[in-house]
Amino acid sequence: MQSTMQDAPLLISDIIRHGEWLYADKKIMTVTPDGVEYATFYEVSKRAERLAAALEALGVKRGDRVATFMWNNQTHLEAYIAVPCMGAVLHTLNIRLFPEQLAYIIRHAEDKFIIVDNSLVPLLAKVRDQIPSVKTIIVHGPDETGLLGDTIDYETLIEDQEPGYEWPVLDERSAAIMCYTSGTTGNPKGVVYSHRSTWLHSMASTSANSIGLCEKDRCLLIVPMFHVNAWGAAYTAFLAGTELIMPQMFLQGEPIVKMIRELRPTISLGVPTIWNDVLRAAQLDDEVDFSSLRALLAGGAAVPRVMIEAFRDKYGLDMIQGWGMTETSPLAAVSLPPAGSAPERDIEYRVKAGRVVAGVEVRITDEDGTVLERDGVTVGEFEIRGPWITGSYFGVEDDEKFRDGWLRTGDIGTLDQEGFMVISDRTKDVIKSGGEWISSVELESTMMAHPAVFEAAVIAVPDEKWQERPLCCVVLRPGESATPEELRAFLAARVAKWWLPERWTFIDAVPKTSVGKFDKKVLRAQYHEGELDVIELRP
Ligand code: ADP
Repeated sequence: MQSTMQDAPLLISDIIRHGEWLYADKKIMTVTPDGVEYATFYEVSKRAERLAAALEALGVKRGDRVATFMWNNQTHLEAYIAVPCMGAVLHTLNIRLFPEQLAYIIRHAEDKFIIVDNSLVPLLAKVRDQIPSVKTIIVHGPDETGLLGDTIDYETLIEDQEPGYEWPVLDERSAAIMCYTSGTTGNPKGVVYSHRSTWLHSMASTSANSIGLCEKDRCLLIVPMFHVNAWGAAYTAFLAGTELIMPQMFLQGEPIVKMIRELRPTISLGVPTIWNDVLRAAQLDDEVDFSSLRALLAGGAAVPRVMIEAFRDKYGLDMIQGWGMTETSPLAAVSLPPAGSAPERDIEYRVKAGRVVAGVEVRITDEDGTVLERDGVTVGEFEIRGPWITGSYFGVEDDEKFRDGWLRTGDIGTLDQEGFMVISDRTKDVIKSGGEWISSVELESTMMAHPAVFEAAVIAVPDEKWQERPLCCVVLRPGESATPEELRAFLAARVAKWWLPERWTFIDAVPKTSVGKFDKKVLRAQYHEGELDVIELRP
């Protein structure tokens, strides 16, 4: 029997129309070197219509890839709206990739058009002669460098067009946006989101059981718009009436603390590395004011307990941990303490990766694919599925990443009766010592609780007796000192004895990936090249 419900396709243009219609006066705020630029949802939406008309006049057709090479700013949001709503595919390029990777991705995606911020022209110019698919480059902001050859000025382009472009009715399953993984553990792979998946993901982000973005929120969007669509927040903003603060290149602790004080966001999204820097800067700022914030959302990497405690104890601020991947749009799990749980157990929940949001299913499996117990003890690989989880990669076969319709995440950990996921490692980072796993994530989180430690990353190194043992790479806070013996004694009181690293090294900074996560691939290479000064303690 057929249902009697209407079944109009779920299109991004509906999200935009809704935002423009209901929240016309809500603001998008872009931080610039000369102050803050304000635009309303209505204005942004109208400019996006003019951009779509201009792109069409330039020859953009359905399914064409239009890339962006931009900071988080209003113009980037205009492209976020215009490109998918007109039926083309928005490809958000990561501005921090090495030139070879960037050129590879542009060629692989067959991008035809690129919109670039003027400040990023020199970076894009490095690959201009390696990207033959790109026919037209549009520059936002004045650019007299000539580095990219013939380009079109963004403002001139849209100035010639009228608003009122009619968003076409598309197949909800058609491609809307594409993102490549940041390649932490291999070559970047493309994931293509549909209108439907984006719609459902945006709805999920408004649920109070997840991050609950709503009309009362003003969101400081630190996570780059090229890192999994800024975790979907740009589209959710139009759906929910959430205002956005776009920080562009001002991503260090000091300007962020100032932005929070002056622009008063209620929530902010970023990776833990950013929040560590914000904590550092806040301690040096006499006027710090976090009173506008209801929460900080941290994801993309495990959030150390000490960071959650510091924001809570010093500023009365909740951190919410989210878990996800490029492959999952990314919001898949959120860690909120369950209703009715004892307040003193709050932190026990917040340090976990989270519980799946409605629409996403999770299980853990062993190497053969046998589904394991959800008992909070048995360790396996997380597999997930759902309408905003990718079913394949763009243009590459990678059957190993999928099993019976589930995505194999490559994340290792436990799942408990309450549904909480705890991540102990990624498959590529695990430390297998004498046949047993040591969690690098937990060692790092514990080490960072030491007052002299700013950052700590733990990697596996070969060991004659145990096959692998942990090497602890420590960054000390400025002016602080600590010996490996002291640090090991600190760990000894908190983790199993056989986990305690014998090998230690002090480094100036943990190398970071293009999206600001610890880059263990680089640390491993440095170790194997003999570039790290390793101190070995007796076991
Ligand atoms: P890349 O795979 O290139 O690092 P992604 O941003 O897609 O790029 O990273 C996804 C990975 O980030 C996950 O597979 C997981 O290992 C890690 N991750 C994300 N959120 C968390 C979290 N809350 N705790 C631990 N790890 C996380």
